[in-house]
Formats: sequence, structure tokens, C-alpha cells
Amino acid sequence: MSATEMNPAPVVIGVDVGGTKIAVGAVTRTGEMVQAGRYPMDRSTQQTSLTSIQVALDDFLSSWPHAAPLALGFGVVGRTDPAAGIWVRSMNIPISESVDMTARFGAPYGLRAAVDNDVHAATLAELHWGAGREARDFVYLNVGTGTATGIVTNGALVRGAGNHAGEFGHTFTGVAPDVPCPCGRCGCLEPVASGGGLIERARELLPAYPDSPLHVAEQQGQLNAHAIFAQADQGDPLATRLADDMVNALGIALANLINLLDPQAIVVGGGVWADGWLLPRVQRIVQATALAGALSDLESIAPSSLDPDHVGLLGAAILAWEVVAERE
Ligand SMILES: [Zn+2]
Repeated sequence: MSATEMNPAPVVIGVDVGGTKIAVGAVTRTGEMVQAGRYPMDRSTQQTSLTSIQVALDDFLSSWPHAAPLALGFGVVGRTDPAAGIWVRSMNIPISESVDMTARFGAPYGLRAAVDNDVHAATLAELHWGAGREARDFVYLNVGTGTATGIVTNGALVRGAGNHAGEFGHTFTGVAPDVPCPCGRCGCLEPVASGGGLIERARELLPAYPDSPLHVAEQQGQLNAHAIFAQADQGDPLATRLADDMVNALGIALANLINLLDPQAIVVGGGVWADGWLLPRVQRIVQATALAGALSDLESIAPSSLDPDHVGLLGAAILAWEVVAERE
């Protein structure tokens, strides 16, 4: 037995609720992931979604060998009310009736449960155990299926009056102003500059580009950001259009954000950055368009130092540790 097993530190349980999987982990106050598991998500209905979370939690806790955890924390997609501990609603996972997370998931274990959206959770993980160790003012920019930010100023996450702060994906850049967004408007950043948006836009434009190699990628089920960036490098006109719009839109939006907030660091996370193609190109647009004063304070635009598989889970655990701190 290791020393940790003999004398386990107190833990909380973090739950990262995604559209296809649920990650559950036990996390100490210093951010050590003691044990973690992954479970399937059935998001057919609200009921199957909540049952999937319950099954994941029950399985994890039934195999947890140490003293009971102190609280539960959930990072979810959609709208949340962190002060009340309520998952208000979500489209990606079909939550139409609000869920009191303590009543639904904490009560059977006699634990309180905290909740916030996944990007706020990841930003809290950065604040406590990542970029926040160096910077009091930073922005976490997630570009994955969607595009969103978590804003930290003076060492605190900006939630806004109703926890809506950070919806960077629905700011306007003037790039591709006619492209419709799932929010119901046109010209938002997200449909042009997210992994999901990029694929959807490629599918819409493919018929107008019959010679594009992206047709082959689509037939092989390989139409993704990586394929689009690779074909842009080969000079394919459709891929170049999509990739250029993404780079320009992200660079302009980020320059606006930098001018507005004067951050010390921009931390990028989410699957689309993993390619390495995007970041230097966006950096060039930012350098060319942001104000000199704000740029002189910006030390880096760089990937997160946290494990991308764990950042959401660590953030959910922070939410739980905040509940524990309130009680103490
Ligand atoms: Zn929008």
C-alpha cells in the first residue's frame, strides 16, 4: 500500500458531464487526482441523461475505498445557476426542466452538490492549478465543438449578473457576416471559428466546390478541423476559405478581447488547438490588430499546462471545494 492509500487526504468528487461521456474523479484540495473513471452518456432524453450521471456516480463511489468525499461538483453544458446549485437548461444534453443538483445527486449520499458550465469549470481549474498560478488576469479560450471563454480578472472568475459572462462565441467580428448561428442570429464567431461550426460550414459549401478533396474526407468520415487545415496548406480553395475565415475571425475577436480586458495571458484549450496549425496564425492576426498597450502586457497566448482529459473534471472539483469552504 502506498502512503496515500494508508492516509488518504480528504477529497471531493468532480463530475465532468459531456455529450458522449461522463468523467468522474476524486480530487484533493491541492488538485491531485486520486482516482478517475469514464462512463457512457445516453442523452436521448432528460431522464436517460440524468440516469447516466447517477449510474456513473454510483459506480465510482461504490468502488471508492477511502473516507466519504466532502462534496460533489458538476461541470455541465448549458445554463446553470451556481449560487442555487441548479442546472437550468441545456440543448446539447436535453435538459428542459431545471435540476437541483444537491436534491438529485447529493442527497442520496448526504452531500452538497455544486454546478457550473463546463467552460467556467475549466477556467477555475486554470485559476487554481494552471495559468492562475502565474497570472491574476487571464482568459481561457476554449475552441472545441463550440467556442467560449472564461474570463479571470484580479484573480476571480467573471460570472456576470446572471452567470452568462464569457459567451465569446456569440460576439461579432465582421468575418462571414451572413453565416447563421445556432443562437438564431447571423455573423457570430462560433459558426465560423469552432470545430463544430467549421464542419457544418464545410458541408454547406461542399456542393459549390465539386473538386475539393474535402469531398473525400467527408465520404471517409474524416471531415474535421485537422483535414480542413491540411487541405488549406495544399491550396484547396474551399479549405483555404474556411481556414482563413476561422483565423481572421478568431484573431479579430481575440484582439477585441485583449483591448477590452488587458489580460496577462490567453490560455487556449479544446480539441481544435491540438493540431498546432491554428495558434501561430491567430497570434499573427492578434499582433497586427490589438492595441500596443494591451499587447505589451500580454505575456503569452499558449496552450494550457493542464491535462486536457482532466481539466473539466478538476474544475468541477473546484466547485465542490468552494462548497466545502463555505461550510467551514
Ligand atoms: Zn450566436
